[in-house]
Amino acid sequence: MKEEPGEELKDEPGGNCGSDYDAEYEDLLAAAEDIEVDDRALAPAKWSRPIRKRARVTMRYRVRGNWLVGYHTGVDLAVPKGTPVYAVGTGVVVLASWSGSYGKAVTLKMSDGRYVVYGHLNRISVARGAKVKAGTRIGSSGATGRATGPHLHFEVRARRPYGSDIDPVKYLARHGLSL
Ligand SMILES: [Zn+2]
Repeated sequence: MKEEPGEELKDEPGGNCGSDYDAEYEDLLAAAEDIEVDDRALAPAKWSRPIRKRARVTMRYRVRGNWLVGYHTGVDLAVPKGTPVYAVGTGVVVLASWSGSYGKAVTLKMSDGRYVVYGHLNRISVARGAKVKAGTRIGSSGATGRATGPHLHFEVRARRPYGSDIDPVKYLARHGLSL
């Protein structure tokens, strides 16, 4: 069987991330309609991991490198293309579109006001404005945008702008979850 070495590499779960400051994504996010998330009517829900199974971390948060802020702004999880990806908690879809170096990406505004970004998706299965809760499927993982192989770039921001990121592992840990 003839195989292109490059293709083979691109299908192997792993690789990491060229998710960096991306004007296309940041402009879309800045322009997105502000939606208030109201979860007062809901019982406090258990949070969910972004992917069900544990996955190898191929790049940790804040690894130093050639990014605009000088470090990796999310955490990269090696998952095969097509792996279901889930909302971690109650929120609303702020963006669900092609997002430059993030590839196909979904951005959620969570009920605590934080923003969660899922990058390099193969498929998006929610629309902008949709309400989500822990465990709502938002898409499938992939290697779109600047990625050297299939992985999920999972990023949490305190506010909208690039560089307001917080530690995504600690964020999930506060809700009782480990990656
Ligand atoms: Zn990444």
